[in-house]
Amino acid sequence: MTLQFNRLTPLARAEPMGDVGWGSRAIALIPQGTVVATFGGDAVDRRGFDAMPATRRERSIQVDDNLFIVGPPEREPGDAVNHSCEPNCGPRSATQIVAWRDISVGEVLTFDYGTTDGSDYDQFPCACGSTLCRGQTTSDDWRRIDLQQRYALRFSPYLLRRLACSTRARMLTKKERVEMLATYDRDPAKALSVALRAVTGRVHDRLGDMIHASHLPLDVKRAICDGDVTACDALVGGLNEFAGEPFVAAVSPL
Ligand SMILES: [Zn+2]
Repeated sequence: MTLQFNRLTPLARAEPMGDVGWGSRAIALIPQGTVVATFGGDAVDRRGFDAMPATRRERSIQVDDNLFIVGPPEREPGDAVNHSCEPNCGPRSATQIVAWRDISVGEVLTFDYGTTDGSDYDQFPCACGSTLCRGQTTSDDWRRIDLQQRYALRFSPYLLRRLACSTRARMLTKKERVEMLATYDRDPAKALSVALRAVTGRVHDRLGDMIHASHLPLDVKRAICDGDVTACDALVGGLNEFAGEPFVAAVSPL
């Protein structure tokens, strides 16, 4: 038996598909609810992800705010399910794709990458041909109300967590701003964590995860996570001056 990182249902087959590279096609009727693909590989954070060769990054899936599963060095049948803006499959867990309806022989398996990916690493012009095509996929597609409704929130768990927390997102109170400034010099990471938990509603999350879920530029995210004094000072200044408004907006779907 040959062990593989990725599993494709035996009801489908991977094959070259012209401009989009490889894809997977049903070779037998795939009943609704069938797990069509289970993704595996190396688990890396964004920094590790960016260091991977493009041939592996294109076979990857985001599974948390700062965690990606990247396919093995050699292509496997199970790591080729392409994007569509009108998909026949979608996520059942962070690493499993399930058939959302019965899929006929010959149909190409697709899922909407907006249901799993919330980072800017995989934004691309889309020509999926659907009347629902967005024309461009972005890291913010999961925030779209139309997609949330059409897919009935069948999103990757970490995106659902973001949405759930957004209902608790709020501005810092004056007392919290004073407390943040009073503790910042002694322990910047802790002071920022406490403030950001209040602002984002992500009460159990680590600083790095909250930062990576925000709209800040990637170089700023990295600088803050590395403890860069200038970047952290700018963040605490922003939280104080604007009482956290940029970060409420960053994690809120509204
Ligand atoms: Zn499309």
